Amino acid sequence: MSSNHNFQVGFIGLGVMGREMSRNLVTAGYKVAVYDVRAGAADELVSIGARCADSIADAVRDADIAITMLPDTPQVEEVVAGEQGLRANPPKGGLFVDMSTISPQATKQMHAILGKQGVGMLDAPVSGGPQGAKNASLSIMVGGNAIDFQKAEPFLKAMGTTITHVGDSGAGQTVKLCNQLVCGINLQAICEALALGRACGVDLQQMRSVLLGGSASSWMLERLGSSMIEGDVSAGFRIDLMLKDLRLVVEMAQQQSVPLPGTALVTNQYIDARAHGEGNNGNQALFRVYDRMTGQDQRIVETDRAVGS
Ligand code: NAD
Repeated sequence: MSSNHNFQVGFIGLGVMGREMSRNLVTAGYKVAVYDVRAGAADELVSIGARCADSIADAVRDADIAITMLPDTPQVEEVVAGEQGLRANPPKGGLFVDMSTISPQATKQMHAILGKQGVGMLDAPVSGGPQGAKNASLSIMVGGNAIDFQKAEPFLKAMGTTITHVGDSGAGQTVKLCNQLVCGINLQAICEALALGRACGVDLQQMRSVLLGGSASSWMLERLGSSMIEGDVSAGFRIDLMLKDLRLVVEMAQQQSVPLPGTALVTNQYIDARAHGEGNNGNQALFRVYDRMTGQDQRIVETDRAVGS
């Protein structure tokens, strides 16, 4: 039996990412109590040995470490300061790790609130997408104090391969937001290349392969390029979540008086995507904005009409 069985994890937020990350903790031999507001979200995890908690307090009370993987800042604040939350029900091990992508400012405030209760908090957002979550190969960027990092590291190793302590509370979120800025602008660059290549009549799948072999290669092109070309918009990482991240980037830039013109442009394109009902689609649906700008959506409608007639 794994020695990890002596340690208990309370895991909150079982969406696209959290269900895979908590599954890897179970597989690594930890005792995991899981909680999500969505009915049925825990069923699969229970079938592999997790315990379904009936509240946040129930999930974290006996935990050596409490972990959250939630959509945005308000949900994490609820878990920290709500009636059932960690402030009123500190985890036994006195350690909380938030792996969601949220505001660095709010993170520092929660770090201070929990510190008064004797609970250490780390911000440990991730990069690598659902595939990285599934394969336990996430890149995890951690902010907080060094002792808490040491305590959390074995648990993080069950979920990721690149685990880096990047500074004090909030620093993990800051690095993650810089990561998202690069992802957003990179995706926009891919959209532009595909839109231009398509207009010129080149074979887009072949163009993608060529680009992947040279200096224009990227994670985004590799993982999302084919879906963009084929019009598969299933999520993955939702447009709404990326828009949340870009909002946090812009807020941080304004606080620091750093102009980010590239981010401003791509943020507006994401707003356009959401306004056209793409919020729950995957990030690759950003290409639909270019479909509209180039009249491609009209051509698709005309072709459909021609086929129908
Ligand atoms: P998701 O929307 O699929 O999952 C969020 C889960 O949290 C849902 O199951 C929801 O029911 C649950 N939830 C919401 N409020 C809750 C509450 N108060 N208590 C308990 N459960 C609650 O989101 P996701 O894609 O798993 O992303 C989670 C976080 O990770 C986000 O901050 C996102 O930006 C970040 N992230 C996502 C990806 C990705 O590719 N999906 C990659 C890296 C980082």
